[in-house]
Amino acid sequence: MAEDYILEKQLQKYFGFTSFKRGQKEVITKIMNGDSAAAIFPTGAGKSICYQLPAVLLPNLTLVVSPLLSLMKDQLDFLLKHRISAARLDSTLGRDEYNEILRKSINGEIKILMISVERFKNERFRYNLEKMKISLLVIDEAHCISEWGHNFRPEYLKLPDYREEFGINQILLLTATATEQVVEDMSLKLEVPGKNITITGTYRENLYLQVTPVDKLKKNKYLLQRIEEFPTEPTIVYVTLQKTSENISNFLCTNGINAHHYHAGMKNEDRDNVQNRFMDGSLDCVVATIAFGMGIDKKDIRRVIHYDLPKSIESYSQEIGRSGRDGHNSLCEVLANKDSINILENFIYGDTPEKKSIYKLLSQLKKNNGFVWEIKPLSLSNELNIRLLPLKTLLVYLDIEGIIKPKYTFFSEYSFKYNISSTKLANNFEGERASFVKAVLDNCSTKKTWTYVDIQGIQSKYNTDRKRIITALEYFDGKGWIELQSKQAIEVYHIVTKAFDIKNITDKIFDLFKLREVQGIRKIHEMISFFESDSCISKRLSEYFGEYLEKENCGHCSFCESGKAIMGNAAKLTSLTSFNFNEITGEFGKIIQDDYSLLNVTKFLCGIRMPLFTKLKVKKLSSFGIFEQYPFSDVKQWVEKHTAEDMSVDL
Ligand code: ADP
Ligand code: MG
Repeated sequence: MAEDYILEKQLQKYFGFTSFKRGQKEVITKIMNGDSAAAIFPTGAGKSICYQLPAVLLPNLTLVVSPLLSLMKDQLDFLLKHRISAARLDSTLGRDEYNEILRKSINGEIKILMISVERFKNERFRYNLEKMKISLLVIDEAHCISEWGHNFRPEYLKLPDYREEFGINQILLLTATATEQVVEDMSLKLEVPGKNITITGTYRENLYLQVTPVDKLKKNKYLLQRIEEFPTEPTIVYVTLQKTSENISNFLCTNGINAHHYHAGMKNEDRDNVQNRFMDGSLDCVVATIAFGMGIDKKDIRRVIHYDLPKSIESYSQEIGRSGRDGHNSLCEVLANKDSINILENFIYGDTPEKKSIYKLLSQLKKNNGFVWEIKPLSLSNELNIRLLPLKTLLVYLDIEGIIKPKYTFFSEYSFKYNISSTKLANNFEGERASFVKAVLDNCSTKKTWTYVDIQGIQSKYNTDRKRIITALEYFDGKGWIELQSKQAIEVYHIVTKAFDIKNITDKIFDLFKLREVQGIRKIHEMISFFESDSCISKRLSEYFGEYLEKENCGHCSFCESGKAIMGNAAKLTSLTSFNFNEITGEFGKIIQDDYSLLNVTKFLCGIRMPLFTKLKVKKLSSFGIFEQYPFSDVKQWVEKHTAEDMSVDL
């Protein structure tokens, strides 16, 4: 009892809250007892305090990992407001600031350090991380580690390794949306015992869940009317495609709504600008793709309207979770019809690599000289025509297969500016160190302002390893003698074995991707039947996340109010048989040449974006995406029928 009281007192002392919210104390107690734990609370339920309070009480640093650093902005502001020394390391920081944060994290002046998961791959960061004493590793959005979740991030799969490498004992997982399968997966991979997982459910009493079947042609008008009911209330409108977000935002603006679009294709500063204006209340409505929202901690979002269908029930739950964090009533409405299902499915098909791409990658591995394998992810993605995310997933699969092991990421280009003369710099050293420093500096070439480091050149003249050179450069930088910068990330893997059967492994990995594809498609259809539910929607939603609601009817969903929603079928499309195959694929075939395949033509016609298409600029052809609205499998069948039989599609 006494201990309980103490925690409450600390909560009050550091954060000014008089009592714990549901689940918080349980989680914090576990952490304070030295255990690892997980908090699965709905959005807005107060997950952050579960690490923030322990962080101030634990002796050493708390390292917080998030899939996206911008998610951490509000948490950082909150901590600074409460005078807790916290910082986030991101690439927008100036050198001095960056170094200052590292220095303070090493010497204990900073209690909470926030990083993105990619930061671990950074050689310079890892070099510094080794010097930090870490009490607790916090993984925000921890469901990202599971391939069965909706936000799988391959980099998350490496977290268990990092944890071991840096000797971190305690771990805290935070997430709002995790099905039972995902919880199991998470706790297994990160070794959090089941008894230390606290789940408080996803049910939110203040959200009105409405499913409104609306015809495609009437959607805009309906949306406008809905928004005009309370034109200035904070609203997010979710759409699937970037161009839709621009079109709808323009439409709303023309009709006097203070709206703006938001999507991943915008420049960072424009995105930040939209987000900040929405946060501070000078922008009422954001029409966005899913790029917007993860972690947006605006309390008074009154409406989340899905103009297009979300990707899955998990996505839906997370997206509506952004509304009504202040506890006041909020509307979550889906303008449902089945028109956009094919577009959703196409996103998934585009993520499955072709078999021959996997085959090509494995052949490269086998043929590689020696056992050190260096890749530039973006170039490799273009070369193999595999999207970046599936490529990263593929690399993780190969890791799990025991074929490769990630070593580190390094920068192939180091350059710096002298703050003092090179002679003066070299004069700081004596003996062997002086000759080493001289060898380093002599092998650098200065062009205008920047001086470029020739690491191999140094190594060929002076018997030293790469690490010593980087350490020296870091040291000069730390001393303020130079301003160092690094560019062009290269991922280095160790090839564990070349004794694998290319064909077997290709098949095995391709099957894994296929399984993910099937799951992804299944999730879309699960969601459709969820929206067409013949029982209370809140209840179904809770059950999906493993929580049983006592009451039969929530009284705040469209089912409870007006019964089952029936979504309109997709508009009737012109039959595929009336199109001329050669006419619409001829140009594409000429450009694509050797990479011509059944799948590529199908993807082209369905408007699925692939690295190869970007490279060859086929997206500007008029027939790109001509069958965007058609089911992928129908298009594939149609292409198959028209494709010459000798075209080898398979291996
Ligand atoms: P989550 O990450 O679970 O979505 P947050 O950690 O962002 O939620 O917390 C949501 C809000 O609740 C924040 O504004 C936070 O300051 C507030 N909060 C957290 N814990 C408490 C508490 N014990 N008492 C009062 N307010 C709290
Ligand atoms: Mg949070």
